[in-house]
Amino acid sequence: YVQIEHLSKTFHGQHVLQQLDLAIEKGELVTLLGPSGCGKSTLLRILSGLTAPDTGMIYIDGKDVTDVSPKNRQIGMVFQSYALFPNLTVSQNIAFGLEMNKISKTEIRLRVQEMIELVGLVGKEQAYPRELSGGQQQRVALARSLVTRPKVLLLDEPLSALDAQIRKNLQKQLRTIQRELNMTTVLVTHDQEEAMAVSDRIYIMNGGRIVQHGSPQEIYTQPRSEFVARFIGNYN
Ligand code: ATP
Ligand code: MG
Repeated sequence: YVQIEHLSKTFHGQHVLQQLDLAIEKGELVTLLGPSGCGKSTLLRILSGLTAPDTGMIYIDGKDVTDVSPKNRQIGMVFQSYALFPNLTVSQNIAFGLEMNKISKTEIRLRVQEMIELVGLVGKEQAYPRELSGGQQQRVALARSLVTRPKVLLLDEPLSALDAQIRKNLQKQLRTIQRELNMTTVLVTHDQEEAMAVSDRIYIMNGGRIVQHGSPQEIYTQPRSEFVARFIGNYN
């Protein structure tokens, strides 16, 4: 469903992504896991169209989108920092992405309410971001991305700024929502436990390359190198 072929990116002579291949099925949740600086965010930015690759191809839903602009790729993205509009309410924040499209007011209201229910924010429609907890703000950010019905959801460490307990709850909710919508999702995380808990498959990255990919269990029980074993925590 999402296919990346021979993707390379260099910044100032530094090879950040090197001949990278990746394939994601419709409805799969795939996690990119790897040390700081290995190119995870760069890969997401290239998928979303915010950064152009030097070489390589990207296909989404059978279509070559390598040269398609970000707003025409039908991709939703959530970052570590909430990036909500402070002067808009929860409902207005979620509706924002729809108002730029040609969608009727009634349809917007319906879709926003549907999202508020999905992410569990009923009763908070008129609240402002400053009146919400970090976890609630991140659920608004998620709703705002999903309300446009993207083909692919990209999540760049969306939970890493949250307290451990809230993070655990939100991991579960994220997975439930993702399954309910059958949403093809790429999650970036530093957190091995999080990757093991929520992923259909994990791609382990190091130095701009994929060093191994497979189900959480495969990666855990059959690490192909000491690097993978150490990184996934199955090493004494
Ligand atoms: P982290 O886990 O710390 O978020 P990451 O795996 O997301 O790391 P990237 O942000 O993709 O890493 O960065 C990979 C490398 O590319 C880093 O060395 C970074 O300094 C470099 N880099 C990323 N964006 C740019 C840019 N716009 N200009 C120059 N160098 C960049
Ligand atoms: Mg990053």
